[in-house]
Amino acid sequence: MATEPRLPTNTIVKPDKDTFLNEENPFEAMMLRFDRAAELLDLEPGLYKVLRHPEKQIIVSIPVMKDNGEVEVYTGYRVLYNTSRGPAKGGIRFDMSVTLEEVKALAAWMTWKCAVVNIPFGGSKGGVVCDPLEMSASELERLTRRYTAAIIQILGPDSDVPAPDVNTNERVMAWIMDTYSMHVGHTTTAVVTGKPVEMGGSLGRREATGRGCMFVTKEALEHLGMPVEGTTVAVQGFGNVGSVAAQLLHREGCKIVAIGDRSASIYDKNGIDVDDAVAYVAKHRSLDGYAKGEIISGNDLLTLDVDVLVPAALENVITTKNAGSIRARIICEGANGPTTAAADSILDENGVFVIPDILANAGGVTVSYFEWVQDRGGYFWTEQLVNERLRDIMVNSFQDVLTLSKQHKVNMRTAAYMLAISRVATVHRLRGIYA
Ligand code: GLU
Repeated sequence: MATEPRLPTNTIVKPDKDTFLNEENPFEAMMLRFDRAAELLDLEPGLYKVLRHPEKQIIVSIPVMKDNGEVEVYTGYRVLYNTSRGPAKGGIRFDMSVTLEEVKALAAWMTWKCAVVNIPFGGSKGGVVCDPLEMSASELERLTRRYTAAIIQILGPDSDVPAPDVNTNERVMAWIMDTYSMHVGHTTTAVVTGKPVEMGGSLGRREATGRGCMFVTKEALEHLGMPVEGTTVAVQGFGNVGSVAAQLLHREGCKIVAIGDRSASIYDKNGIDVDDAVAYVAKHRSLDGYAKGEIISGNDLLTLDVDVLVPAALENVITTKNAGSIRARIICEGANGPTTAAADSILDENGVFVIPDILANAGGVTVSYFEWVQDRGGYFWTEQLVNERLRDIMVNSFQDVLTLSKQHKVNMRTAAYMLAISRVATVHRLRGIYA
């Protein structure tokens, strides 16, 4: 493959107005970034074609007996995007917004994310179209177990390792681990990560994505010569990523002036008591009714005059419609795909420093890797060791991406894609195509 002629630049799909017509298709957003980086890397045509296709896409119908005795059938997906660097790795989300296009994009992002932080995994993602808030715990358990059984052939510590994502948690991972173990006939802890600590989970995993966001935000502040103390921050999304990022940035000296979830957004210029808000959400499941500050709209939160904006919820919240109004100096993408490809150039023109998702939120999968290593070794680390090793990986990866962005005079997103794609491409060249 290495000897193949280089791809003429005109064969690469260039971002243009027509492509942007479907601004909100996450797979297209991923591909536009991929194409740009592939072009800069002068990727050979064969490899370019290979890396534009997911390896495996599975669609399953999941019948579930509801508590009232009726049967409902849910649709589930699992996509393995690329496994050249190791077992596929990626979360499972339960949400009404799940589509195959979205799962494909998320699986590709997992591939690039694992490569950016240089952990030995490929990328995958799964999703079930359902509304978990409308379901009882026993219905969710039946759904999880039946979905696991439906995709069991591809799961395994050496083949595909799920983890939590939007609306899934430790309890869901425990059901997956148990279902898989029952099928193979022995307890297999390393088949999922993000499990309860009592059954092979890693200390520090729950906080890892938010903690990683904190580490890279501090690196960005230092790079831009901005002090951490008193930095104003707005956080969109108050789940596992946003709430922890807010708490840890607050502990580092930042002032969290706005938080929001899908029910409400709150602003307080004097700073929000984040621990108090976390305790409220633990009790009431959302920020709805949390009255300690001014209630603002979700879009107002994104366009506040703050130093740092952390979008930590879902895809496509920063688009051509609002990117021009964003006043933050730094965006730390805690969510996967919060910015559309079309919005990238607007942010660039306005001098916004974006820490891209595949770097910013890689702390979660990094500690998932630590969990998998601990499960396989049967020897568990202290929380301090987990956090130190996480810090090393996040800081070094940030610096690797920054160096590349300076070398090629590109933004952090393109640099992160270039780093990831070149690592995946190297392994493909070494392995060759099996025929
Ligand atoms: N769902 C998380 C992500 O998008 C974690 C994935 C994992 O730990 O495998 O990065």
